[in-house]
Amino acid sequence: MSELLKEVEEILLMGPGPSCVPPEVYNALSCKTIGHLDPLFIKIMDEIQALLQKVMNTKNKLTLPISGTGSAGMETCFVNLIEPSDPILILTNGVFGVRMQEVGNRLGAQVDNIDFEWGTPVKPEVVKEKLENNSYKIVAVVHAETSTGVKNPVDEIGSLLKGTDSLFLVDTVTSLGGMEVNIDAWGVDSVYSGSQKCLSCPPGLAPVSLSDRAFSIISNRKTKVPNWYLDMNLIGQYWSGERKRVYHHTAPINMLYALYQALLLIVKEGLENVFQRHKENHIKLKEGLENLGLQMYVEEPYRLPMLNAVTIPEGKDDLKVRQILRNDFKIEIGAGLGPLAGKIWRIGLMGYTARPENVDRLLDALAKTLKEA
Ligand SMILES: *Cc1c(COP(=O)(O)O)cnc(C)c1O
Repeated sequence: MSELLKEVEEILLMGPGPSCVPPEVYNALSCKTIGHLDPLFIKIMDEIQALLQKVMNTKNKLTLPISGTGSAGMETCFVNLIEPSDPILILTNGVFGVRMQEVGNRLGAQVDNIDFEWGTPVKPEVVKEKLENNSYKIVAVVHAETSTGVKNPVDEIGSLLKGTDSLFLVDTVTSLGGMEVNIDAWGVDSVYSGSQKCLSCPPGLAPVSLSDRAFSIISNRKTKVPNWYLDMNLIGQYWSGERKRVYHHTAPINMLYALYQALLLIVKEGLENVFQRHKENHIKLKEGLENLGLQMYVEEPYRLPMLNAVTIPEGKDDLKVRQILRNDFKIEIGAGLGPLAGKIWRIGLMGYTARPENVDRLLDALAKTLKEA
């Protein structure tokens, strides 16, 4: 057996996640493990909840990190809210919308969807028309579609749903901590995120928040939540309550230290400053890419600051470019997925990655690589 960890080297993570982890967060991971019902740990849990409420802009009491990656957050939202045959609508314009359909189908929901062209945003007027003729228990959309680099108009979709009985479910895995996420003002009932994108924590936790309306639907289900591990009725009893906390599963203590530290860093920097930093580095990257003769794949108004889709130029070898960047320059960027495989690169500027020195390093490496490949 060899000591493989000795081979792990620092890679500049400029793909679609995980993102670079700040030293403070690595330090947090190596704090001593304490018990999951230790009074100090419960204080840390309370702080994590308050920090998440702040970053998500919500007063929802049921705001907590699920043990698992972003997809576990997705499962949590769907598995708690859906009962068999419930009609749901998924607005799809990329991989993660398609994953929502899959999750809904597996739970026996009646899944309807509107497909928008990948690389373009969801169009609220099309959604409006659909809602005039149908009613759904849940309408779901991905805020920042990481597979294409497109921002969807969550606030406008939320406005269409206000005053209706539909719950609004939003994926903020890539947006949270990198751009405005305003759960309460946008009328979002159920939201999930992930630790390893703009929160710049290693992968393994999925912040979730449910409105009172969503929670009352869960409490009044006709059938039990079909997944014990992700049942918010049970998890809620461990995460809330003045004194008495009920053990459900052993919390991933050290990962929660890391999330706590990552959220503290964001709040200390200030949300507005964090968003501005993402925007400035996105513009710097975009200008640098254009100087190299490269083109952005998504039209300007719909571009995400933290996920930059770049058209692969004619005659350049997708895989070879990414291999050179990884092997010679120790930089990871992402490939296209599904119909965009071989057509785009995905350059992430998420969280701690979004710094000017990283943009410069990538642009310099890319200039050299493109000459070679
Ligand atoms: C990464 C991502 C997910 C899935 O998260 P995992 O941590 O990979 O499980 C879901 N939705 C979006 C938009 C993502 O970017």
